[in-house]
Amino acid sequence: MKVSEVKEYQCETCGSKYRTEGAARLCESKPLTQDRGVQKGDKVRIIRGDGQGLATVEGRHVYDLEWGHYAWERYWHTVGLTAKCDEGFGHRQLTFDDYELVPVDTTVTKA
Ligand SMILES: [Zn+2]
Repeated sequence: MKVSEVKEYQCETCGSKYRTEGAARLCESKPLTQDRGVQKGDKVRIIRGDGQGLATVEGRHVYDLEWGHYAWERYWHTVGLTAKCDEGFGHRQLTFDDYELVPVDTTVTKA
């Protein structure tokens, strides 16, 4: 029996794994965009899809080349968010065009 090892090359921006170094380098050459500086705990307003309204940011991630295949490369290396909808819809994964920023001082506090 002969043992063969498969080498993988990983893009350090989005974490995608590739069979060839060239493919990984191509992925890394794509700049990171749509970083709007939103951090965990910030409020955003969901403007598309389910749970529209205020939401609390739970995390950030970077989309890979494959994400949203119907919109070819639109989300490649863009910053996305996971958020909990304040109105109780649940949790959502948000692409940059699913939300808008909410200034902290206009957030309404419920009594
Ligand atoms: Zn990548």
